[in-house]
Amino acid sequence: MKVYISADIEGVAGIAHWDEAGKKQPEYQEFRTQMTADVAAACQAAAAAGATEILVKDAHGSGRNIIADQLPETARVIRGWSGHPFGMLQDLDDQFDAVVLLGYHGAATDPRNPLSHSFTGYFSELRLNDLVCAEFHIVSYLAASVGVPVIMVSGDQGICATAKHFNPAITAVVTGGGAGASNTGLHPARARQAICDGITAAMAGDITRCQITLPPEFELAIRFNNHAKAYRNSFYPGARLADHETVAFKAQTIFDIARMLSFMA
Ligand SMILES: [Zn+2]
Repeated sequence: MKVYISADIEGVAGIAHWDEAGKKQPEYQEFRTQMTADVAAACQAAAAAGATEILVKDAHGSGRNIIADQLPETARVIRGWSGHPFGMLQDLDDQFDAVVLLGYHGAATDPRNPLSHSFTGYFSELRLNDLVCAEFHIVSYLAASVGVPVIMVSGDQGICATAKHFNPAITAVVTGGGAGASNTGLHPARARQAICDGITAAMAGDITRCQITLPPEFELAIRFNNHAKAYRNSFYPGARLADHETVAFKAQTIFDIARMLSFMA
């Protein structure tokens, strides 16, 4: 069984400030360590549940956060970014059986995590087919496009509630949640245990229960927090300026949506 793990940091238990997610800040070491320990625990639980091959995408910032030597030897890590539109799911294909998302976080402006955002700091809202969309949704549809179910997500209260609403069959592991600029996380050891228990539960039984259907077409509206960026990005082929801060784009496939998002700058 092949399992793909996509790991971010802004949903790691207790993280509360951008300095803790930024490679150049001293506070980052604590959460890099915690992210690595969560991924290592998840790999061990997946291996115990039958995974024979595990591919991990280090999916935060530089893509160079996880300390690979601390993972079990069944795991390989994709570090850095190739530029492929699959991004946080780089190299996922139909040979995999399941996707696990770790350390995921609420969409931009979700008040349940001080670090809520969507891909970049300059999208204030993404709407996909008129529903507010987090990185989670894009990733879930991308996985579905190659026939692989997302079976588990860990992260803040916001993304876990969103994920359950989107796909009731998914296992959602809440490791923390916030108010204002605060975040109350589980103890890191408890968070790791909850992630392991979540993987064990998610991998038990028929994992195809987590399969979702793709809508026949996608309509994306990106609201920027900067009108100049909206104007510039409205010239992406097929896009249009819906209002002074919103770029709209229609596509038949989630790949086209992901490609468009990957070119926004
Ligand atoms: Zn991140």
